[in-house]
Amino acid sequence: MKLSEKHIGSLRELLARPRLRIVTVSHANPDGDAVGSSLAWAEVLRGLGHEVTCIVPNKYPYFLDWMPGIGEVVVFKTDAEGRAAKAVAEADAIFCLDFNAVSRLEILSATIEANTTACRVLIDHHLQPDEGFDIVFSHPEASSTCFLVYCLVEALYGREAVTRRMAELLYVGMMTDTGNFAFSHLTPELFRAVAALAETGIRIPEIYNNVYNAYTEGRARLFGYAINRKMNLIEDGTVAYMSLMENEMRRFQFQQGDSEGFVNYALTIKKVKMSAMFLAHRKFIRISLRSRGDVDVNLFARRYFNGGGHKNAAGGKSFLTMQETIDHYVRSVREFAEEGRLG
Ligand code: 5GP
Ligand code: MN
Repeated sequence: MKLSEKHIGSLRELLARPRLRIVTVSHANPDGDAVGSSLAWAEVLRGLGHEVTCIVPNKYPYFLDWMPGIGEVVVFKTDAEGRAAKAVAEADAIFCLDFNAVSRLEILSATIEANTTACRVLIDHHLQPDEGFDIVFSHPEASSTCFLVYCLVEALYGREAVTRRMAELLYVGMMTDTGNFAFSHLTPELFRAVAALAETGIRIPEIYNNVYNAYTEGRARLFGYAINRKMNLIEDGTVAYMSLMENEMRRFQFQQGDSEGFVNYALTIKKVKMSAMFLAHRKFIRISLRSRGDVDVNLFARRYFNGGGHKNAAGGKSFLTMQETIDHYVRSVREFAEEGRLG
């Protein structure tokens, strides 16, 4: 990973100041990479004597409950005592991990925008980051933000600075963002980083089980229902989509995170090049997109669904009804295909 010498220098200088008040923030619907990178980086910062508050806009999925230190993460949405707002207002530095635009913090955005004096540092691997950060580590070639945090720690303090606890946290993001080391950007450097994490004594099968084999019965049955009844194929079987309404989710005692992985499943079909999942929320529909090879769902999400992400994994939102959203998707896919963007 080629990290900017200039920004490494600025970061080193910032962190050399004594007892900073620091906040880490990550994107709405935080995943393993968001939480893992935030908690691991917080651990590094605390080791340097700084005071750190980790904040996420809303709750992380229950299968991350076991992660070391997760109890200290302040969930902005349910933070009745205003701990998050206070920490942000007092912060000398705000680290933005695993997202590329303050708007992706959703309900937390305005609180972050209100602190105009803190040094803003971006550590992220999404495409097209926004302006407005003082120190920027934006690396779309990194498979996860956790890998990026590992590279930063290594560059700043050497790999000996990585504790077992940090290693466990960082492994979660490396594993989840690569689909257990099956997606793109799997570089030799990533596997060297994994080897360094393994050296600390982390138990890799245990971490895998904690994340991937910890779902409820309802989730397993919802998955069967979704694949059997709700998966549709269009464009001669090369494009898939699936939708879930709130009443369908309730029927299977849906908990946030239960639909994790559903959107990927259509890509197990050889012909499928692009897959979408539409999940109804109270106020809007959340869209997840996945693709294979050259099919660029970051572009698709930006153009048609007000979102973004990575080339092969992106997301967005729709404020239309479910049927209108699906119609819009089908039409957009057609346009994309006509431009030759589906290969
Ligand atoms: P997921 O489908 O797992 O929620 O998201 C896939 C990827 O797209 C993640 O890297 C996520 O951060 C990004 N993403 C999801 N929703 C949005 C969105 O509304 N806007 C942008 N810019 N990125 C998104
Ligand atoms: Mn990520």
